[in-house]
Amino acid sequence: MKDCNQCGKCCIKYGGGDLSASKEEIDQWEIFQPNLFQYVKNYEIWFDPETGSKFERCPFLEIVAKTDVLAPIKYTCSIYLNRPEDCRHYPSLISEMIKDECEMIGIKDIAKPKQAKMMLDLLMKDSRS
Ligand code: SF4
Ligand code: SF4
Repeated sequence: MKDCNQCGKCCIKYGGGDLSASKEEIDQWEIFQPNLFQYVKNYEIWFDPETGSKFERCPFLEIVAKTDVLAPIKYTCSIYLNRPEDCRHYPSLISEMIKDECEMIGIKDIAKPKQAKMMLDLLMKDSRS
């Protein structure tokens, strides 16, 4: 199991229509994070505050400026510290990582999924707390 390399596949796949935030999170945003709350409509995320249309891609996903032209593209989250719980918990299952082609997973992890899950849970401890 490797550290996340910011390939962005998960955010690209789920950051549009498949992402959700809990009622509690949204209620907190309404009070403390109006910059996020403006992207919420009827307790769903993410909607364009100007047009009211649902984004097909997360509006907070950004490309990291490259220092080496040959390096692969890396992504970052512009609301990282306030990202939804859904985002903080991903990835949580080895099967999901395989399906999503998450780049944290290696051949050894596929061969030993129970061990891989334990390593994943350790790696994700801070993100999920
Ligand atoms: S909020 Fe951040 S972590 Fe979540 S999908 Fe968007 S860019 Fe990714
Ligand atoms: S798909 Fe996996 S490696 Fe890529 S950004 Fe998401 S968690 Fe990180």
